[in-house]
Amino acid sequence: MQRPLEAAAVLETGAIMLGSNIVADGHAPGFSVRVVTHIHQDHILDLKKSIREASFIAATPLTLDLLEVAGYRVPPSKRLALPYSVSVSVDGDVLTLRQANHVPGAAEIVVELSNGHRIGYTGDFKLPGTDILYELDVLVIDATYGVEEWVRPWQDEIDILLADVVQEGLMHGPVYIYGYYGKIEEIMLLLRRHDVDAPFLVNQRIGRSAAVLERHGYRVGDVVVDGTREALEVKRSGWYIGFRHYSSWRRRRMLPPSNGLRPVHVLLTGWEFREPLRRISPREWIVSFSDHADFRQLVSYVEEARPRMLIVDGYRGGRAAAYFASYVSKRLGIPATVQPSTERWTK
Ligand SMILES: [Zn+2]
Repeated sequence: MQRPLEAAAVLETGAIMLGSNIVADGHAPGFSVRVVTHIHQDHILDLKKSIREASFIAATPLTLDLLEVAGYRVPPSKRLALPYSVSVSVDGDVLTLRQANHVPGAAEIVVELSNGHRIGYTGDFKLPGTDILYELDVLVIDATYGVEEWVRPWQDEIDILLADVVQEGLMHGPVYIYGYYGKIEEIMLLLRRHDVDAPFLVNQRIGRSAAVLERHGYRVGDVVVDGTREALEVKRSGWYIGFRHYSSWRRRRMLPPSNGLRPVHVLLTGWEFREPLRRISPREWIVSFSDHADFRQLVSYVEEARPRMLIVDGYRGGRAAAYFASYVSKRLGIPATVQPSTERWTK
């Protein structure tokens, strides 16, 4: 096989190797730059080790600031803040971050190697709003939902449907939304875009993220941190949106009423493929909302990008990664494999 294969790889540790100088979303010794595509746990693997050993930690300015909220201290001398589409040379390789629609600050990576090869990594993304990376020798892609049945045909309308559920809930009392960090920040911005004005009630960590987003020019609006005097007032009013981590969903019924009003609960999950909204009780909704491309979007990304070779991230993708790689090689005629794996390339 051709040389670019050796340049890009998903390592056993989950690190994405992009040439011999740049590694992303995991640690590997001997690389001068560690890129962080976004703040999700499975993309900041061994970050403390990289902060100690790498010369630079590269990310969008927003992601670098959000990392600090998550407790990672990157010394100023190692901070490589890269706005989208701004290139930097790393020992002869040219590194550029491109816009990914996933969580605020998320980026894709393009590296032009000194030997002329172009390699790229999508990180996590969904469409639209993600730049398609063209003319790549090798593309490393995330395929969390890389199985044919995993489609959400309502993905274009789900923002409005979610905003409607929240607005409707607010007419009767507070609304609590349950999701993962990153997704919560994304939803806060989404609701403001859809003119949902109720104050947000959040924990300290989300409160700090919200402040960072405001500092970076996003409109988060009224945010109050639980436990403060303002929070008491907001709760008394009964008109607010509480954000809670996904794991609190099973404790939702323990929340007391506010101002005599019982809350409406909304769970956000990417694993609901039957319908966009499911009302499981008069006050409980499951909303099919994901930060990741569904199967159709994955296919359309690869069809448009047409890399010469595709590596599907099997560290994060599980069985979907294997399915997607074989689909791409058989149906799209692009050589594709899953890594890390001992499997050979299929054609
Ligand atoms: Zn992610």
